[in-house]
Amino acid sequence: MITEEQRAYSRKYYLEHRQEIRRNLKKSKLKHRIKIYKKERQRGTERKIAVLSYYSGGVPICARCGITDVDVLCIDHINGNGCRHRRAIGSQGRHFFRWLNANDYPSGYQVLCFNCNAKKYLTDLRENIAKGGIYG
Ligand SMILES: [Zn+2]
Repeated sequence: MITEEQRAYSRKYYLEHRQEIRRNLKKSKLKHRIKIYKKERQRGTERKIAVLSYYSGGVPICARCGITDVDVLCIDHINGNGCRHRRAIGSQGRHFFRWLNANDYPSGYQVLCFNCNAKKYLTDLRENIAKGGIYG
């Protein structure tokens, strides 16, 4: 437990040595950049698996064809408009998994593989065009 006195000392020390601390941090990040990159990738993969597991209700699996390879699984917006939604929240790819995790796994999403996701998109698009509508 950090006391208020220790916190005040740390704050004062930081303010007095700010430039030196930042310079050392920058040097350290540069020195360990490969290790940092690998750790971030690992964390991102773990987060993706956690999100896919949540929306699959267990082992990550495509809701349509049943494929379980996490390399080809993705999150599908059940009611469409995924592109618009991702643009609105400014989050794509791995950042989208972070967004889902940070927002307590909101409803309206399912796990599909890339093929099933593309097939769903094309089917919806064709139905929409057949009804006389345009994209999306
Ligand atoms: Zn599939």
